[in-house]
Amino acid sequence: GDALVVAISKRIGAVLDHRDSLARIGGDDFVILLDAMSDSLKTLTRDTTSIATKVLSVFDKHFKVADKLLRVSARVGINVFGGENVVPEKLINQAESAMYRAKELNERVVFFDETIQKNLIEQLHLEYDLEHALNNEEVTVYYQPQVDKTGRVKGFEALMRWEHPEKGFISPVEFIPLAEKLDIMPQLQELVFRHVCSVVKVMERDESIAENFRIAVNISACQFIKDDFEKAVTSVLSRYEVSPERITIEITEGTLLTEIDVAMRQMKRLQSLGFDLSIDDFGTGYSSLAYLQKLPVNEIKIDKRFVDELEHSDAGRSIVDVIIYLAKQLSCRIVAEGVEIESQLRYLLDQDVDLIQGYFVAKPMSLETLLVWQHNI
Ligand code: C2E
Ligand code: CA
Ligand code: CA
Repeated sequence: GDALVVAISKRIGAVLDHRDSLARIGGDDFVILLDAMSDSLKTLTRDTTSIATKVLSVFDKHFKVADKLLRVSARVGINVFGGENVVPEKLINQAESAMYRAKELNERVVFFDETIQKNLIEQLHLEYDLEHALNNEEVTVYYQPQVDKTGRVKGFEALMRWEHPEKGFISPVEFIPLAEKLDIMPQLQELVFRHVCSVVKVMERDESIAENFRIAVNISACQFIKDDFEKAVTSVLSRYEVSPERITIEITEGTLLTEIDVAMRQMKRLQSLGFDLSIDDFGTGYSSLAYLQKLPVNEIKIDKRFVDELEHSDAGRSIVDVIIYLAKQLSCRIVAEGVEIESQLRYLLDQDVDLIQGYFVAKPMSLETLLVWQHNI
């Protein structure tokens, strides 16, 4: 028995972070204390469940104790706490009662807090729905115009949309993490590229659009650094006979940080094929200026957070000015996003920002709406 408990502790310990604590509090009861989880209920539910799943996965393989192979099963009860007046005994009791409920319900993970538990169940349903969304053609792409200082449309940003049959539109911020977890991002991304290619074909016939227009596509970090990413993209493009010169690839600073060397090589390859590369949400990550100058970047996007600050403070304006200065030094095109009011537009154009994107110009639209919009401006 003791040897088994030791073996279990070792395996659980190995899947935890160094900041987490693991204790056996008696018999076959273990307590794991996780520190500094997110304040957002959604993120917190997701992160704690994913840790619980990792912990449970250590029981997938049998344990070998005293030359015997033993199968062990486990359940997890989760209790969330924060702030003051924390009573440890109470927390543990509540976590324990959640664990017993897990046994009752024959679930592997149950939260003590009912709201969080409901949230978890909802997320699980959503995951299930998302797996079917692709086949049911519920996922589509919206387009948000980018205009130059004369108001001419120079391009669009392609933004993924999931129209849930009951829940309506679900934000990409919400479903992309689920898609990543389910490993269906490659299929979703391909869908976006197919959509974008067909739109390029439509736009190439439209004279109201600048001849050198581009459509920007967002790529998540885990997609971008994959070896087969370039092949996946170019094969869709060649099927539709669309030139890479029609496509800007948007990545965030976070993408660069995950694996800078891999990302850099990927960027160089893509750029040599004719794609433009854009750094999205510039200034919100931790990119170091030292390697920024080494990166093959064609465009920098000023994040909405900075555009919002233009109204409010001199400091806010200074940050935007610095980003613009920097982008110019690096010979990058500058796009400001999230432009909602005329005064922001004026300021940004006075500072020589190349492209404007935001509700002030137009919201993201379906292709049909976009075509109507285009002929009315
Ligand atoms: P993002 O790339 O920063 O996209 C800009 C977001 O700001 C979009 O949200 C857009 O609808 C919104 N927006 C644009 N102008 C305004 C404005 O004037 N005011 C306000 N309040 N919002 C504005 P959306 O469409 O919900 O997309 C959220 C995020 O989801 C995107 O942020 C992007 O990171 C991600 N995403 C969207 N489509 C894809 C995709 O195909 N692939 C990947 N990997 N990520 C995607
Ligand atoms: Ca973007
Ligand atoms: Ca952005």
